[in-house]
Amino acid sequence: MKKPVLTIVVPCYNEEEVFLETAKQLTAVLEDLLDEHLIAAESKILFVDDGSRDRTWSLIEKESETNPFVTGLKLSRNFGHQKALLAGLETAKNYSDCVISIDADLQDDVSVIREFVVKYWEGFDIVYGVRRSRKTDTFFKRATAQGFYRFMRKMGIHLVYNHADFRLMSKRALEELSRYSEANVFLRGIVPLLGFRSTEVLYDRKGRFAGESKYPLKKMLAFAFDGMTSFSVAPIRFITFIGFLSFLLSSAAGIYALIVKLLGHAESGWTSLMISIWFIGGLLLMSIGLIGEYIGKIYQEVKRRPRFTIEENLYSRQMEHELSL
Ligand code: UDP
Ligand code: MG
Repeated sequence: MKKPVLTIVVPCYNEEEVFLETAKQLTAVLEDLLDEHLIAAESKILFVDDGSRDRTWSLIEKESETNPFVTGLKLSRNFGHQKALLAGLETAKNYSDCVISIDADLQDDVSVIREFVVKYWEGFDIVYGVRRSRKTDTFFKRATAQGFYRFMRKMGIHLVYNHADFRLMSKRALEELSRYSEANVFLRGIVPLLGFRSTEVLYDRKGRFAGESKYPLKKMLAFAFDGMTSFSVAPIRFITFIGFLSFLLSSAAGIYALIVKLLGHAESGWTSLMISIWFIGGLLLMSIGLIGEYIGKIYQEVKRRPRFTIEENLYSRQMEHELSL
């Protein structure tokens, strides 16, 4: 087998505090892999600046001038982690044989990148990095994440347990991924659908090297909700079920009320009336809201808007130059 061109894609949003350290550690990893003849010399680290408001992009540009491994892609604004990652993958796949995605904050163990590459040599198209433990995450993050996986599984969406977006994908897996053109990308849900030979590599997840999480609770909830409604119609079915149940219960209550009235013991009836109005009202609102959520998704999908916009692309320029030599 020919030595593969590897590109490591790193989405960055306001990561000036960690950028230099991340670049340093990933460069060391690539150098070792080169020494071992596991990757081709054109291998790169592609930093995707997701519309950072700090100095991240200028740091990437500066580093790329001196470090031949480092290159960058600048999005025109903040598109969010998933889309930044997608922009990186789509750009990298044109020039690479395999691509590894990793977060900028060094929470994922860079030393397992070597294992990913070894698995690629063994013929795997997708290698998932799976966290062995989450001791460094807060109890809250751990509990919500755990609940999320369980809930998704219940709804028939199979995610790789304890896997974030730290993975290797081969060129053909990436090409297949490109055909999933949905606007709401939830990579963790899509990648397992691609098929191909895949495997997992265990690692320990660390705390953030510096800076703070760009995933506050609000974004985390939005992410979970997106993942759920993009992949499953189970919530709609659940609502239908609840509606049916409440219909049965209300009918029984209605028959009971009728019997009481016929027997002549009728109360003023205010309490039961109020309760049922509120109950049905709540149920209807909930259902409409949920259905609206799906309609919103359809609306977004049919617009076929671009998922990201690239403002500057140091990478393609550089690769075209290198590959033409
Ligand atoms: N990120 C991004 N765009 C965003 C938010 C985050 O590109 O709008 C990047 C961020 O720079 C990091 C990765 O996505 O490399 C994961 O974010 P973070 O570490 O803040 O999330 P957490 O690990 O806390 O879930
Ligand atoms: Mg992180």
